[in-house]
Amino acid sequence: MEKLIYEGKAKQMWSTDDPEVLRVVYMDQATALNGKKKDQIRGKGEVNNEISSLIFEYLTAKGLKTHFIKKLSATEELVKKVEIVPLEMVTRNVSAGHFASRFGIEEGRKFTSPVEETYYKSDELDDPFINESQSLALKLVTKDELDVMWKLSRQVNQLLTALFKKMGLALIDFKLEFGRLADGQIVLADEFSPDNCRLWDLKTKAHMDKDVYRRDLGELTPVYEEVLRRLKEALKEEA
Ligand code: ADP
Ligand code: UDP
Repeated sequence: MEKLIYEGKAKQMWSTDDPEVLRVVYMDQATALNGKKKDQIRGKGEVNNEISSLIFEYLTAKGLKTHFIKKLSATEELVKKVEIVPLEMVTRNVSAGHFASRFGIEEGRKFTSPVEETYYKSDELDDPFINESQSLALKLVTKDELDVMWKLSRQVNQLLTALFKKMGLALIDFKLEFGRLADGQIVLADEFSPDNCRLWDLKTKAHMDKDVYRRDLGELTPVYEEVLRRLKEALKEEA
């Protein structure tokens, strides 16, 4: 019997017959401000599932280790079950969002080399910023695991910055999650969609990501659908 083992802000995780495999259901829900702003958004689950599946397939084809097995249906995918490392690994190529507000600078400043930050994944604590020695002291992760996670994050940044550029989009920043397989191997987990990255149109500078929702800039689903359309085109060119 399949059981709902977790319902988060955007996805449900279901057990399957195989104890090492989970079924992910992408929901039509958007949240911001750690869940304080929350809305049902028709079509969001489907488009995010499609974008994330294509991106995980792309990264897997480039040799990166991920949890992804396959897309199952419009809103579902199968993934390898992992023990999530409770860290949100953020990479920033250009200043935006909290980086800009925290340090009192404008959005859009390109960094000479990417900024790397970690946040402790805890809804109760509001995902506080955490540094390496704090993560090690709390035994959330080992130094070797952190090294692997940053190495994978840098590979993701290189591959996806180039891919999004072909789509006429700048990859401003993004958040990744990693997990441990049963044998301890670290793999990229969760999702990659406009929900957890910032994408700016190279020509118009328009926001093509969740900032449309966070900042009430208009309808979200058509924007994500345009990202998906461009992604499919770029992947066709690559093939
Ligand atoms: P949140 O928990 O932040 O509200 P979601 O709604 O996206 O986020 O829920 C998905 C949850 O499943 C997240 O907590 C994420 O860390 C976790 N997760 C992602 N991939 C896997 C996996 N392969 N195995 C186990 N848990 C996973
Ligand atoms: N991000 C995320 N989940 C979070 C916090 C941030 O996916 O709980 C992503 C966000 O979409 C952006 C990047 O991480 O691409 C950096 O976000 P930032 O710290 O600027 O916070 P925000 O302004 O998005 O709250």
